[in-house]
Amino acid sequence: MAVTPNEVIETGIRCWEAGASIIHCHARDAEQRPSLDYDFFARVVEGLRKHTDLIVQLSTGWRRGDLDCEGRIRHIDLAPDMMSLNIGSVNFPRGPYVNTPEDAEFWAKRMQERGVKPEIECFDMSHVEFGVRLWQRGLIDDPPFFNFVLGIKTALGFSARTLVTLVDMLPPQARWNVIGIGAEQLPATTMGILMGGNSRVGLEDNIYYSYKVLATNEQLVARVKRLADELQREVASPGEARKLLRIGEPTRTDRAQAVAFKESDH
Ligand code: ZN
Repeated sequence: MAVTPNEVIETGIRCWEAGASIIHCHARDAEQRPSLDYDFFARVVEGLRKHTDLIVQLSTGWRRGDLDCEGRIRHIDLAPDMMSLNIGSVNFPRGPYVNTPEDAEFWAKRMQERGVKPEIECFDMSHVEFGVRLWQRGLIDDPPFFNFVLGIKTALGFSARTLVTLVDMLPPQARWNVIGIGAEQLPATTMGILMGGNSRVGLEDNIYYSYKVLATNEQLVARVKRLADELQREVASPGEARKLLRIGEPTRTDRAQAVAFKESDH
């Protein structure tokens, strides 16, 4: 498990070499507890930018309740490519994970202002609906990127039928990703490949490669890459994924201004 900034960077390099396009990062404090430490993230972003062209996504996930909505997104100043956008509350096995609608709107607006692509974290069907509403209201740029987190024991489980239902709720412009927790990782991510979505693997969601056999992040990436190759769905390079998600393109506001300028020419 990668715990220090250097370990996260080294793991990121190995996953990039194994075929990953996006890396989702967390920080830890000196006692190895989860943290949103700004300097930790700064070192990780710098190292990953130096050694890879990975799309860097920083987590805004936080459950301890001692940070306000500003505190949870302060590391946006590091200009990551993406950040997780937690738009709804859910029960985790060890207690509730609270994300209020007001906070979600605040984060969506902040990410849009800064040109950071949100990954809309959906632990429940209602989260998908609320994400679509924020996108309809113009708070999330095209293409909205939804992430379905399936298989948490106290939340929405994974089944092929559930995944089909969730994908059916999305607007046609949307892109999506699926996470399977624990033993659900392999079937859920394989379904993601088959259904034209994206797949996330790694130790945050699942620590096993197979029954009782512990995994590394890069082993899990290599396996999903092999599966995609076998199923003849080519894996996007980080550069191609950047284009697909329109990362680094002008924000909605800038695009609107560009269009207005062109039209006033006539
Ligand atoms: Zn995470």
